Parts: sequence; structure tokens; C-alpha cells
Amino acid sequence: MNEPIKKIAVLTSGGDAPGMNAAIRAVVRACTYYRIECVGVYRGYQGLIEGDFKTLSARHVSNIINKGGTILKSARSQEFKTTEGRAKAFQNLKEAGIGAIVLIGGDGTFTGGLKFIEEYNFPVVGIPGTIDNDIYGTDNTIGYDTALNTVVEVIDKIRDTASSHNRLFFIEVMGRDAGFIALNSGIGAGAEEILIPEKNLGLERLVDSLKKSKDKGKTSSIVVVSEGDKIGKNVFELADYINDNFPHYDIRVSVLGHMQRGGSPSCFDRVLASRLGVAAVEALLDRSTGVMVGITNNEVSTVGLNKAIKMNHDINEELLKVAEITSV
Ligand code: ATP
Repeated sequence: MNEPIKKIAVLTSGGDAPGMNAAIRAVVRACTYYRIECVGVYRGYQGLIEGDFKTLSARHVSNIINKGGTILKSARSQEFKTTEGRAKAFQNLKEAGIGAIVLIGGDGTFTGGLKFIEEYNFPVVGIPGTIDNDIYGTDNTIGYDTALNTVVEVIDKIRDTASSHNRLFFIEVMGRDAGFIALNSGIGAGAEEILIPEKNLGLERLVDSLKKSKDKGKTSSIVVVSEGDKIGKNVFELADYINDNFPHYDIRVSVLGHMQRGGSPSCFDRVLASRLGVAAVEALLDRSTGVMVGITNNEVSTVGLNKAIKMNHDINEELLKVAEITSV
């Protein structure tokens, strides 16, 4: 594997995230800049297995920096989880003369990448693309900032109706295992309570906090709930519990769902994706493999893919305190 890399493949896999297109564009253009051929793989690992490849020139990625989703499409491929599936993928890469891959995705995508390296010693570099921000080794994942802005914009709108009708709103946001979206959007949108998977605040504490809010003269309230909050009830069950135990509010539930993944990426995500796309190609040219590129303290950084998926990206205790103080 010591021949110079002449052809790099790029794919997007797992849940789509705004900014993936900006990352694809940066990978393609970095390849053009360094005079390497770039091949786009459609539908993630499934496209690798089926040989769904297309050579991408710098002009193929014009006018996509502002678009949500991914022009390469994404897929969840069960077949890639099998040794036979990965063998087909390797065969296709070899036949196409591809010497390395850039993976844009989350922890599942990186787990698949690690298996592929183990089996075929094939050069792989990852770019963190997921709205959840649940990847270690980068301060932000691509799509997270846009998702936060989308959530805050929606909560602002819900607040208008909450305050007009003196209502208590439970708003469920994405984040099955990580509360970053809930915590940051909750602070940004001025929520009274934020429930996240990393902390069990307990139902009694929630009731108590809502009672205190009421006593302090709040006539409406917003509670932001992460999909996977530790209390273990879904947002409708939570709302029912509060209704039974503190029937002083007119309660409504709003589940934001897939809209959190969509939309034009924020400037922050576009810049992040552009930096990481260039960094990924440069890492491969420097013979790095099995790593993810990230931005830490505003510098490009690399971390082993195994660390990126296994180590916790801790919830910032200071943010929890800020949430508590600013909701008095
Ligand atoms: P997100 O968290 O944003 O949804 P993700 O990358 O974690 O993104 P997954 O659906 O978990 O999304 O993984 C994407 C793909 O990676 C899977 O569809 C599968 O093809 C591959 N993959 C996941 N886990 C493994 C594994 N253990 N072995 C081989 N391939 C895997």
C-alpha cells in the first residue's frame, strides 16, 4: 500500500446532516487541487457494495455548499455489517483503482470503517457528520450548529403560543444518547427545564421546579426533552405525569422530529465542513489512516476512529449550571 494515492472515494453514511454537501465539495476540490481523482460513492456503504460510483470534478459540486441533505445520498446498509458485504466493497474499490476512502458520518459509519481497515488494511479517514455532536475528538460535528439554530427558531415560535395561552410545552428534540442539542437549544431558547440522557433529574424535581416557576409568577413554561432522557418516559408520558401531579397548566407536547436534520447549513457548519474536507484529503496524502479529522480549540486535529466512537464527549457542567441559573 505504499504507492502514491491517485484516486480517493468519498461517501456519506448514516443519518444525513446539514453541511455534508459542503464537506463533499471540499473533499472533491481538495482532490482537484492536489491533482487526485475523486470518486463519489452513492448511498453510503451500500453503494460501495454495489459499485455505485461516479467520478466527481470540481464543477460537479458547484452550488451545493448551501444545500441540506447529501447529494451522494445516505443509507443504512445491513450488508456492510457482513464479511461478504465488505469483501464485495473491497473488490469494487480495487477494480476501480481507488486507493483510499473519506467517510462522512457518525459512530456507526466509523465502526464499519474500522472493520474494513482491520480486514483489508485499506486507508480510511473519517469526517464527523451528525447533528448529535456525540463524537469524541472534535468540538463540533458537522450539522450540529444548524440543527441547534433550527430548534431554537422553532421553540421561539412555540413560545409565542405558549405565552399567549399560558401553556406548558414539552418539546422533544433529537438526541437518543446525547443531550447536546437539548441542553444548548434549551439555553438558547430560554427553556425552564432541560431533560437530557446524561442526567437523571427525576420526576419529583421536575414537578418541584414547575411549582417554583408558577410561584415565582411564570404563566407559561417550556421544557425541552431529549429523545433519550434519563427519566425513561417518552415526552407524552412525561406530560401525562405532570398533568396528573401538577394540573395547574394547560399542557401541550411538540415532537420536532426530522425537521431538525433539514435545511440550509449555517455558516459555521459550512466553514467546519470545508476545513474538515480539506483536512481529510491532506491526512490521506500524509499516509494517515484509521483517524477522524476534527477541529479542537479552533485547530485541525486528528483522533483514532476507535477513540472517536468509544470515548465520551462530556456534557459541560458549566452549561448545566447556566441553564439552572438563567431559568430562575
Ligand atoms: P448517525 O449517528 O448520525 O445516524 P451513524 O454513522 O452512526 O450516523 P449508523 O446507521 O449507525 O449511522 O451507521 C451507518 C452505517 O455504518 C450502517 O448502516 C452500516 O452499514 C455501517 N455500520 C454500522 N455499524 C457497523 C458494524 N458494526 N460493522 C460494519 N458496519 C457497520
